Amino acid sequence: MELKVYNTLTRKKEQFVPKQPHHVRMYVCGPTTYNFIHLGNARALVVFDTIRRYLIYRGFRVTYVQNFTDIDDKIINRAAEEGEDPSALAARYTREYFRDADALRVMRANVHPKATEHIEEMQEMVRGLLAKRVAYVLDGDVYFSVRKFPGYGKLSGRTLDEMLSGARVEVDERKRDPLDFVLWKAAKPGEPSWDSPWGPGRPGWHLECSVMSSKYLGFGFDIHAGGSDLIFPHHENEIAQAEAYQDDAPFARYWLHNGFVTVNEEKMSKSLGNFFIVRDLLQEWPPEVLRFFLLSTHYRSPLDYSTEALDLARRSFNRLRNTLELIDEITGGQDVMPAGRLSREAGDFRHQVLARVAEFEDAMDDDFNTALALAALFNLGREVNSFINRDDFVQTPAVVHILIHVSRYFNSLLGVLGLIPGEGRDMGEEYAAQLLQVITGLAPGDRSLLPEGLPTEPRALLDMLLQAREAARKQKNYRLADRLRDELREMGILIEDTPRGVRWRLV
Ligand SMILES: [Zn+2]
Repeated sequence: MELKVYNTLTRKKEQFVPKQPHHVRMYVCGPTTYNFIHLGNARALVVFDTIRRYLIYRGFRVTYVQNFTDIDDKIINRAAEEGEDPSALAARYTREYFRDADALRVMRANVHPKATEHIEEMQEMVRGLLAKRVAYVLDGDVYFSVRKFPGYGKLSGRTLDEMLSGARVEVDERKRDPLDFVLWKAAKPGEPSWDSPWGPGRPGWHLECSVMSSKYLGFGFDIHAGGSDLIFPHHENEIAQAEAYQDDAPFARYWLHNGFVTVNEEKMSKSLGNFFIVRDLLQEWPPEVLRFFLLSTHYRSPLDYSTEALDLARRSFNRLRNTLELIDEITGGQDVMPAGRLSREAGDFRHQVLARVAEFEDAMDDDFNTALALAALFNLGREVNSFINRDDFVQTPAVVHILIHVSRYFNSLLGVLGLIPGEGRDMGEEYAAQLLQVITGLAPGDRSLLPEGLPTEPRALLDMLLQAREAARKQKNYRLADRLRDELREMGILIEDTPRGVRWRLV
């Protein structure tokens, strides 16, 4: 079956074909680092991480970029409240972000660009837009002239009049048109600022995503994603800036947006007191359960949080885990594949299993329908249970052989959803120092294969090393790949290369 995705830009489901065969370039708007991430942030993270994992499962190479907005009014205000330097506050919440994202098993992006590290490129785009006369300077600010860009409104499907009555348009009497948005903001006294041809200031929020996505993925990349609250004005403005600057379209080919999270069917908001941050939820619920809950509804539909919904997710996830444990009890975690003749029942069972795998893939191919994909896993689990619990069940080598296969399928599909039970569960803090030693022991050339940053969590450190090992294997640098595998084995982390990707377990 072909892979179909709902494209906000065309408002329909389309066949997904990346610009370059087998390689998907994907950009996801990341958090503003002024606070811990909340449940709404977590939904976007987990949803797009799962889409990335499924694309990898489908055989695509995925280059994934997710930014950090590390300069913004919210950061400046929060820093003033707490008497902290804005850049220190942003760095702190970037670290906190990784703690939560790692716990939720969100894979690290290939690049995590930060706004403050791309000021020059952003100024370059502002200069270009001024030269094209689609922007104008006003007392040290620079504005984008919305009416000079004919495509404005194509993503949100709104007319200029409808946008004018929208709540999020900034009112500023000085602007030539109320819809014009800021590209460069003059600094108020005491605010962090960068020198520019228009005076000291800082970039407007929308600018960073146009600049950083094109820089790392090229203009006309495949997927641009984010929460549906970003469609207007953020993504609409990103398109206007990038396409006006480049004199070309489209800036991004497929636009994917996830739905809102509500709490007991009310909008989640600080003022209603029903605002959940992930760090608190993780005190109460295992990360797998939270992740399961976030994937239990199709990503475009609203998702309602309640204790009952989380409790249901916990019980459902445990059912899947129990099935896997049942299989493991019978196969004894064997890796060898004893052959033998299949009974008719066993043969039928094998067909059923393959049909469920296809059902899972069909669901994911249909705009990443994780709710139906989970239903396929539950069907599979039910069938495994009834096969094993039959009165005439005989544990022949051929049956064990099939069950080993089933366990692999099960794990591989759960891996697509980031839900392999127990993975990373037992990795204690004591691994961190050893993993860090492996990283620091790498030659400078080999270290360049590591993703950015140096986390403190053992899981995140291991992820870094696994990503570096994958990169080494792709470059046919087997010396490094094998060395990493051996060093990890020495500390009791066993790496297995499966057709569906790398797995690890503690031994
Ligand atoms: Zn963005």
